[in-house]
Amino acid sequence: MDVHQSLLDAVGATPLLRLRRVTAGPGPAVYVKLEFLNPGGSVKDRAALSMVRAAEACGDLPAGGGGVIVEGSSGNTGVGLAMVAAQHGHRAVVVVPDSIAAEKIALLKAYGAQVVPTEPKVPLEHPEHVNNLARRIAAETPGGWHANQYDNPANPRVHELTTGPEIWEQTGGRVTHLVAGVGTGGTISGTGRYLKSRGPVTVVAADPESSRYGGGDGSPYYVESVGHYLHPGTVDDLWPQSYDRGVVDRFERIPDRESLEVARRLAREEGLLVGGSAGTAVAAALRVAAGLGPDDVVVVIAPDSGRNYLSKYFDDGWMTRLGFLDSPTGPRVRDRVP
Ligand code: PMP
Repeated sequence: MDVHQSLLDAVGATPLLRLRRVTAGPGPAVYVKLEFLNPGGSVKDRAALSMVRAAEACGDLPAGGGGVIVEGSSGNTGVGLAMVAAQHGHRAVVVVPDSIAAEKIALLKAYGAQVVPTEPKVPLEHPEHVNNLARRIAAETPGGWHANQYDNPANPRVHELTTGPEIWEQTGGRVTHLVAGVGTGGTISGTGRYLKSRGPVTVVAADPESSRYGGGDGSPYYVESVGHYLHPGTVDDLWPQSYDRGVVDRFERIPDRESLEVARRLAREEGLLVGGSAGTAVAAALRVAAGLGPDDVVVVIAPDSGRNYLSKYFDDGWMTRLGFLDSPTGPRVRDRVP
């Protein structure tokens, strides 16, 4: 029999898909790593499993279950942790900025996680900031453990041990460029570090235009879960320890409009329903590919599915209201009735 004994055996080993339509001309092959095919629906399943295993190994969480996993997350890490918690017999408490897509909050609740919404627009050092609140809840809860994806070395490490080697094997060592977003930095740091250890791979960070990582002013943007923005009043512009900026060779700074347009095109032209940060990453990959030849091989990470954002990026009303769409695309039912 070829069966999994645990759902967690299905984390990782995601496919690489060649883009056929949104790519133009005789340039390089662009392959998308389909991280939304992880069982919890995102790249963060890898980090969640890795962080929980490390915590159990060192005694921060009871290995037999019964602990309380606490994390500040805009959704995907929370889902990954809730999934792992269910499998390992722990409880999950997820602190979320209440600006995130409603689907993501509903998802966390569906997995049995306790969701604690908090104010999104507070400075990094404010006690109600997601990470500070998560740290406090973990400290005050018996059996509580703060996963702390931003500073937890088990986050980048899992990408060095799995995502990087998968890409190297899947491309037969032909990958020349890696394109990925930077949220905690775990994905790009671990994957990039591994690929660079194997060959001359250029690592490109796909960053929202105003994100601090790529040199922006830190003003807010609408693509969720990537980049680094600042709220007025923030004094200490701390960057995560999960992010190794030495791995990044260059940035492509992508405006929201371009990210969301590419995400929508991927759904309509390739049948690939991915989230806004995948739109940012593929938009960056298309810019990178425009300057390369047919022997180059570009790999781009698609962190999660567009199903998390049906009420935002894939909703014509939302897009039009925010000025990202000049007029709703496609015929409305009303328009087709004479
Ligand atoms: N895109 C999405 C949708 C995510 O949830 C995340 C994780 N925060 C990222 C991109 C960035 O990944 P990382 O934290 O590994 O940098």
